[in-house]
Amino acid sequence: MDFERYIRDIQDFPQPGVIFKDITPLLKDPQALVQACETLCGMVKDYAIDKVVGVDSRGFIFAPLIASKLNAGFVPVRKKGKLPYKTISESYSLEYGEDTLEIHTDAIQKGEKVLVHDDVLATGGTANAVCKLVEKLGGEVVQCNFLIQLTFLNGADKLNGYDIKALLTY
Ligand code: 5GP
Repeated sequence: MDFERYIRDIQDFPQPGVIFKDITPLLKDPQALVQACETLCGMVKDYAIDKVVGVDSRGFIFAPLIASKLNAGFVPVRKKGKLPYKTISESYSLEYGEDTLEIHTDAIQKGEKVLVHDDVLATGGTANAVCKLVEKLGGEVVQCNFLIQLTFLNGADKLNGYDIKALLTY
């Protein structure tokens, strides 16, 4: 399927100079939605996944769909202060300032095989912080998959050593 035609470029969002990849046209199309999920699941077929970790907030769209297809559990990683139970946290730098992500301490058991999913890989700071959280709990990140990889932002460099897959690369 030509997924690219379901991705819309939004100029100057969320700030001037940024071209934002809007995935909502893909989400609202029944066939594209199912096919995107199937394709993402096909990329991990060699692994028996225990947990799919989705990243706040657009990672929460596909991660549970993928998890249910792979007979895995879904785990949310959220921005600081949103998770109700005991958490561990990981901070990472943004262009200006810093952000912090959190995961529940009981979300992953030692040795579990984990798939990390988010909608977009840009600079890689977010996904790298998520991988660190998973590893702090003793999980093994077997793949990071994305709908979109913006290769010109070199996010793969920050995820050196991980298996990175994407439906679409720009
Ligand atoms: P990174 O940490 O790799 O620089 O940024 C990735 C995070 O920013 C992801 O959680 C993703 O949702 C968001 N993001 C960055 N650029 C875009 C974009 O063009 N489109 C969408 N949908 N999300 C983006």
